[in-house]
Amino acid sequence: MLQDEAETGRLQELLARVGAGLDQYLEFEHPDAFSRQQDWCDALEQPVPQQGVGIDAVTRELIEEIIPNGSPVSKPGFTAFITTGGTTVSTLASTAASIASPQRYMSTAFNLLEELSLDWLAQMFELGSMKGIYSSGGSVANLVALGAARQSAFEKLGRDPARDGVDRAVGVYASRECHHTIQRSCGVLGIGRRTIRPIDCDEQGRMRADALRAAIERDLSEGILPMAIVASTGTTNTGAIDPLSEIGAIGREFDIWFHIDGAYGLPGILDQRLSHLYCGLEMADSVSVDPHKWLGAAVGVAATFVHDRSLLERAFTQEAADYLEGTVETDPDASEGIEHSLDNFGVPYFNYGTELSAPCRGVAVWALIREIGVDGMRERIVRHNDMARELAEFCRAHENFELLLEPTLSVCCFRYVSPRLQNLDQFNQRLFRRLIRENEFMPSTTRFNGKLALRPCFIGARSGRDQIDGLVQAVLRIGAELADEMGR
Ligand SMILES: *Cc1c(COP(=O)(O)O)cnc(C)c1O
Repeated sequence: MLQDEAETGRLQELLARVGAGLDQYLEFEHPDAFSRQQDWCDALEQPVPQQGVGIDAVTRELIEEIIPNGSPVSKPGFTAFITTGGTTVSTLASTAASIASPQRYMSTAFNLLEELSLDWLAQMFELGSMKGIYSSGGSVANLVALGAARQSAFEKLGRDPARDGVDRAVGVYASRECHHTIQRSCGVLGIGRRTIRPIDCDEQGRMRADALRAAIERDLSEGILPMAIVASTGTTNTGAIDPLSEIGAIGREFDIWFHIDGAYGLPGILDQRLSHLYCGLEMADSVSVDPHKWLGAAVGVAATFVHDRSLLERAFTQEAADYLEGTVETDPDASEGIEHSLDNFGVPYFNYGTELSAPCRGVAVWALIREIGVDGMRERIVRHNDMARELAEFCRAHENFELLLEPTLSVCCFRYVSPRLQNLDQFNQRLFRRLIRENEFMPSTTRFNGKLALRPCFIGARSGRDQIDGLVQAVLRIGAELADEMGR
């Protein structure tokens, strides 16, 4: 009974309580969750309750036991993954959708925002008249794009690969620095992970166009069908942007689908200092971008753009179903026309990807853009790019820092050095572990040109310039301590 009573009229009060808990969380004064693991495990790990405790007790547990023991991803100093805590406005929008439109279909304001926000993204990122579809993240967005690529390549040979499968070996060309889930997409699409031809990069981590051409020619000489080229605008590793014009021209020359993975870095086009690096974007057959990365949405929203969504419809065809038949008005003679939101499903996103039921994601993207506009988004992106440059500047100036690669976007790869140190990889690995345990600055590590690097990627809306000074001081302090310990 308790549960049913709570279903009307209590949101204002309860959301205010949860909101206060979240504001407290954003002070980031609590210790890291793992350090208190015993406490929350003891409090939370219980057998399935036969009797409920009621919504007030659940709310209290959320605020006292769960929120304070959440993830460090939202912290300003967390720069390890390219995801971030949702901004306030995106949280408001997603929460509203969970009640007012838990599905993205039907003629509703939420459904309109699904399409409108996709069009806004296309305008903001100069994608021309491309049309989009949302999915849960960049790995799925790339899978959807490669599904379109597979459909296109085989339809040219008179075959429907979605219906009949593939009957010949194909090649997919992506640089050695491409996202590690691209191979999995090929596995899921039934063409096999080994169809990926890893293309060599230059010393800046960008795909080499001559190596791409050689790989395509090699496949053609062996009767293998080139299916897609995948370029990155902003590799996950270093933020490198592949030479899109050159790659796009090769795609045109050989008539190969050209996909651009902009999950992280497509928004970099807003930084006018860098927009020339995006020349060639207009040649893309598909583009993906993650609003849950640099735009500040909470995890769960990515977009794929293509020129013609009917190709996606063929690539992801579903069967008809009796339970859907009566749902939508299909009688052309129906004199009343469309009068109810359920008369019309709106854009049939369920036909364009791998999901049927799906949340409204557009409302969060709409809210993010509506709140600060393209100008505000540009300022944020420039600020993060500046942070990477500021850190690079410091590395050049200080004898204990080595810059491993000039930043393109908001990633900076560097390491601690000293003439006293023998094994720099091992040293930086130890430094890194100490750094993250202090729970304030949390970059990741990576390898670039064979060297272990500290790798912060700045994208958080709550992250600003003061982070750079803090990070630098922490690395210097820990580096000096460790060097002393090891020298003893
Ligand atoms: C993060 C990332 C992905 C994967 O995106 P998810 O949202 O984590 O699934 C794909 N490509 C690139 C370049 C990325 O940075």
